[in-house]
Amino acid sequence: AGPGLKVISTLSVGFDHLALDEIKKRGIRVGYTPDVLTDATAELSVALLLSACRRLPEAAEQVKSGGWTTWKPLWMCGYGLSDSTVGIIGLGRIGQAVARRLKPFGVRKFLYTGSGPKPESAAEFGAEFVPLTRLAEESDFVVVTCALTPATQGMCNKDFFARMKKTSVFVNTSRGAVVNQEDLYDALAHGQIAAAGLDVTTPEPLPTDHPLLSLKNCVILPHIGSATYATRSTMAVLAANNLLAGLRGEPMPHELKL
Ligand code: NDP
Repeated sequence: AGPGLKVISTLSVGFDHLALDEIKKRGIRVGYTPDVLTDATAELSVALLLSACRRLPEAAEQVKSGGWTTWKPLWMCGYGLSDSTVGIIGLGRIGQAVARRLKPFGVRKFLYTGSGPKPESAAEFGAEFVPLTRLAEESDFVVVTCALTPATQGMCNKDFFARMKKTSVFVNTSRGAVVNQEDLYDALAHGQIAAAGLDVTTPEPLPTDHPLLSLKNCVILPHIGSATYATRSTMAVLAANNLLAGLRGEPMPHELKL
């Protein structure tokens, strides 16, 4: 947009796609859409978790392909949330909303990581702040809901997956780059972890011949976390109001503090 660019309004809560240093240098104001997409994204995170741990796409495919024959005790078995330990990487708005939705499934213990303990947010779930290594080792389900930052980039890597249990399920609805995808592929292909559900990948869209798509134990969605009609509509109105307020030099409904 050149030197005339005064305001940026992003239809997202994530802002890792913005060149923040340059934006700050040029005094450009940025509006974004926190809160209004929290419920939809948390709901999708739960849907993805259940799809991965109960193998829903794989099972549905069996119905279509004729793989569903006689009843077999261990056929299409997966892992359930009852009495489980859930580790949340990033107990922010979406992370808390995920924990709130998972708790009634009978989760026994919540663990979380972040830049520091958040006792007020954690109290609702009795969640324990732990180092990332312990979260990997003890969680039956890992849900990644943190922001993509230099500190979180590539955080879920070979070492992380090696620490996870063979029976554990990994879910990422944050940003693809938080995960080292080659390491995730190896962990899934070699049975180091049970399954994964990804709403976000690197790159997006993921090429249709990507190795992750060849795995039965990996459920991949096309970044649809906030994609409900109501949420997208609310986000659009908020983004428009952010932009108008920015252009008028007024306080924005949601301005990113740079
Ligand atoms: P918040 O800012 O409320 O939460 C972000 C969380 O990231 C904070 O709890 C923060 O913890 C945590 N975090 C930061 N650094 C680290 C770290 N080093 N290790 C672990 N956690 C860390 O944002 P939202 O919950 O609203 O959104 C989170 C992200 O979800 C967005 O940034 C976006 O990328 C993604 N998103 C994805 C969508 C999708 O369609 N799949 C839709 C909407 C959002 P602390 O406070 O302790 O630093």
